[in-house]
Amino acid sequence: MFHSIKGKILSIYLFLIFLISLIASISIYSLFNLNKAIDGLIASNYTSIAAATNMIDAIERQDSNELIYLEVDAQRGIRAFSQNQQEFLVWLNRAKDNITENNERKVIESANSDYLKYIEYFSKLQEIKNKSGNGEAVKFYDNEIYPVFNSVKSSCRNILKLNEESMFKSKQNATEISRKQMYGTIMISIISILLGLVVSIYFTKKIVSPIFVLTEGVKSVKRGNLNHRININTHDEIGELASEFNNMTSRLLQYDKSSINKLMVEKNKSIAIVKSISDPIIVIDNDYKTTLVNKSAENVFDISEKDVLGRHMIEALGDKKIFNKVKLIVNNDEVAEDNDPIIIKKQNKANYYMITATSIPNDDDKVSGTVCVFKDITHLKEIEQIKSDFISTVSHELRTPLTSIIMGTKLLLDDTESMTSEQKEIIQAIDEDGGQLVMLVNDLLDLSKLESGKMQINLEKASIFDIAELSLKSLSDVAESREIELINDISPKLPQVYVDYKKIKCVINNLVTNALKYTDKGGIIRISAKAEKGFMRVSVKDNGRGIPEEYHEKIFDKFSQVGDMADASGTGLGLAITKGFVKQHNGDIWVESKPGEGSNFIFTLPLYKG
Ligand code: ADP
Repeated sequence: MFHSIKGKILSIYLFLIFLISLIASISIYSLFNLNKAIDGLIASNYTSIAAATNMIDAIERQDSNELIYLEVDAQRGIRAFSQNQQEFLVWLNRAKDNITENNERKVIESANSDYLKYIEYFSKLQEIKNKSGNGEAVKFYDNEIYPVFNSVKSSCRNILKLNEESMFKSKQNATEISRKQMYGTIMISIISILLGLVVSIYFTKKIVSPIFVLTEGVKSVKRGNLNHRININTHDEIGELASEFNNMTSRLLQYDKSSINKLMVEKNKSIAIVKSISDPIIVIDNDYKTTLVNKSAENVFDISEKDVLGRHMIEALGDKKIFNKVKLIVNNDEVAEDNDPIIIKKQNKANYYMITATSIPNDDDKVSGTVCVFKDITHLKEIEQIKSDFISTVSHELRTPLTSIIMGTKLLLDDTESMTSEQKEIIQAIDEDGGQLVMLVNDLLDLSKLESGKMQINLEKASIFDIAELSLKSLSDVAESREIELINDISPKLPQVYVDYKKIKCVINNLVTNALKYTDKGGIIRISAKAEKGFMRVSVKDNGRGIPEEYHEKIFDKFSQVGDMADASGTGLGLAITKGFVKQHNGDIWVESKPGEGSNFIFTLPLYKG
């Protein structure tokens, strides 16, 4: 029973109930004792005191009756004397029945014998009165009766005194008993309270302390300490709970170990896969510190994983540019790619790599690191270079004969009189096609120069209003013939830009030419500009046929034209060259357009900071 918590709590209660019962019993016993003392006080002495008092009253009345007999009315005196005699004897008998004190019997017997004498003397008094007259009778009363009367009274008073003294003693006794009982009860109560407190505190502590141990164990396990064991050896519910707890933690430990093993296998597998990938891979944490470098990355960056682990990317690779690019990609998107390749020179050979960065999310969907893959695009760059070189060579080779052809046709067109109209038309067609071919060749040459980085740029301060004005002037005839209004909305007061004049004129020309091409009769083309955040933002806006969203980026690629709107007269190179020129100025270009609502080509240029 005492092994369980229930039993322990019950035993504390039982013990407390026992203590309360003990105090209650002692109190009842004290009250009983006190009661007994008071009862004795009343029972033993009160009756005798009452008897003595009544006896004195009766005899005093008898004395008066004798005087009435002598002096007033003999018959009335005798009658009343006899009545009081009855009463005296009744109280005398009660006193006899209640003898409680020493000497009381003696005093009562003396009162009894004196009283008998007193009664006898009254009979004698009657005889004397009858025989010798009232005078003799009075003498007899004074000499004989009165002393006996006093003696009876004094015996009665002795009875009274004896009992009063005893009563006083009993009262003192009762007071003493009650005082003793009171102290006794107080003592027992204090001892019981102290004992109750000690027992309650001791047992409560004994019951509760294992709960604390258990709570500490739970907290420790919560902190991840699965080795924690609880040492409670009681056989109660807590002891049972502790043993179940220990079982649970050992199961958890086993589970943890097997999960960790599985995780380790998976991790090693993943690491092996990453290590074997031929592209260079570097994994970094949120502080840009390297956490993994694969073999290929070790070769490409000429580093060793063990030397760079835990070090910042800049320190590990010794290249701030790569870090800046990774940072830019990481801050932009979860999986991101940068279109501008990085160049790593090895044994005097430039290698090109595109960086792809993929965030590693953890359980809370927060980023815990980034995988940076460096895709080797050197061979693509080489092919592109070959293609560019080829286009450049072919364009060069074509330009000379083409110039000769155009000059020849021009000469021929100067003298057309000897020609038939058919011959004239053919020469004119050769002239037009030749002109277009020269334009295409020039575009191709510009593009290849831009791509190879050989395009020169001559920066100077210029007014964007002037450039736009000049460009619009050169195209005003075409616009007029197509009944399209050209508006220069640029304020001449705008800050100056720092640009290659010719190239920016070419940019505006290209954009306005395109707008003229793709805007119907009666349309409006508006050029505007505004300076913001250290850049000049120029916009060429038309209300022509517009461009679907999916082409907004593509149209800036080489040979790219909008699907079914492809124009036989165009080459798809204009916007690519335009973008190349803008990029040379560290600017940007994009289009905002919706089919049927016109297009707005916007580009930015640097401001002159003179
Ligand atoms: P193209 O020689 O074909 O004009 P561009 O590179 O200048 O080559 O333009 C690429 C394509 O972009 C065009 O073929 C045309 O489909 C589309 N385009 C360019 N400008 C506009 C414009 N203002 N409105 C509608 N489409 C346009």
